[in-house]
Amino acid sequence: MLLIGSRPTVFCAAGDRPSPCIFRAMSQQTDVADIRIPLDHLPADGRFGSGPSKVRIEALHALAQTGSSYMGTSHRQPAVKDMVGRARRGLADLLGLPDGYEVLLGNGGATAFWDVAGFRLVQEHSHHAVFGEFSSKFAQAMAGAPHVATTTTVESAPGTHPVLAAMSGADTYALTQNETSTGVCMPVARPAGADDDALVLVDATSAAGGMQVDPAGFDVYYLSPQKALASDGGLWLAACSPRALARIDDLGDRWCPASLDLTIARDNSRQNQTYNTPALATIFLLVEQIEWILGQGGLDWAGRRTAESSGVLYAWADTHDLATPFVADPAMRSPVVVTIDLDERVDSGAVSAVLRANGVVDTDSYRKLGRNQIRIATFPAVTPDDARQLTMCLDHVMAALAQ
Ligand SMILES: *Cc1c(COP(=O)(O)O)cnc(C)c1O
Repeated sequence: MLLIGSRPTVFCAAGDRPSPCIFRAMSQQTDVADIRIPLDHLPADGRFGSGPSKVRIEALHALAQTGSSYMGTSHRQPAVKDMVGRARRGLADLLGLPDGYEVLLGNGGATAFWDVAGFRLVQEHSHHAVFGEFSSKFAQAMAGAPHVATTTTVESAPGTHPVLAAMSGADTYALTQNETSTGVCMPVARPAGADDDALVLVDATSAAGGMQVDPAGFDVYYLSPQKALASDGGLWLAACSPRALARIDDLGDRWCPASLDLTIARDNSRQNQTYNTPALATIFLLVEQIEWILGQGGLDWAGRRTAESSGVLYAWADTHDLATPFVADPAMRSPVVVTIDLDERVDSGAVSAVLRANGVVDTDSYRKLGRNQIRIATFPAVTPDDARQLTMCLDHVMAALAQ
């Protein structure tokens, strides 16, 4: 049972018995189930989460179609190794990687990759653009790593991004193309004046596949595949420049746990394998999405599509009395994760709860941001039509809830 009404919103897990105080409050509250969104407003697919994100039904069917030929077979045999090869080649094609770049992969997702980077990419001093949860976590991981002497940051308030400029002594720069926690995107570029051999590491977890990027702007472009690339969690992939591959060699003697060792990951990746067992479905779904995007026209197409979907939502928020885009500067607004502040007359938790009860899920704001906000992913898997339908759902629900 789920109750909504004037804040504070009361949520009860299914099966919970409402406490007496909730019974008293019920008379002034609306049961979520009472707000039914008209069927013709509903999107064809109600998944708008920022990760795990919508996996296309066609990809799930294709996975089921593999029957006994793929799932449940050895990751050291051609069926799986060929799939890993397609993922590596496909990502290189999608990003337009120049010769000499390599796509490496391993287990543990982007979070594990931060620790991986600390051992074999950051020499002594990493400098980070920090403007939300994910960018700050990488900086914290490096600040706590005993083998990284210096960690510096340039920070800006949530809803904006800082400018990443050259920092004296930095051998590694860290930026986040799309800060999933706030819906802010920043340019991918080498800081002017950075040392020639400095590395630029780009967290592209929620950007890769949904936003344009110029490989000249990065040395390592890394991601987890359960966001813009519409697969499932557990893996990291990293497109590495020759400069990054050289750094991995240079730091090869530093002590490192084998599961986080990029020299081991590199050697396995070159054979289309991972050091330990990967999730085979994750790799399959990733290949489905990469090849689907390539078939539609690659990043140009994906960039136009995410711009269209997100544009629908920003335009809606710009004109709605009770909504405002959280990111004030249009140039910083993410095309793949749209954050919208709601007026205090509507409770965002209630809006998301009603949407969920109607099958439209995961529009909640990032939990630690603590704003009266909704957050909507417009990754390539999401259709612009469904973004339009969502605005009709929002109109209906907000009209019903506004006080
Ligand atoms: C989700 C996310 C991460 C963490 O990914 P995990 O797969 O959970 O480790 C890191 N960076 C960004 C930008 C993200 O959106």
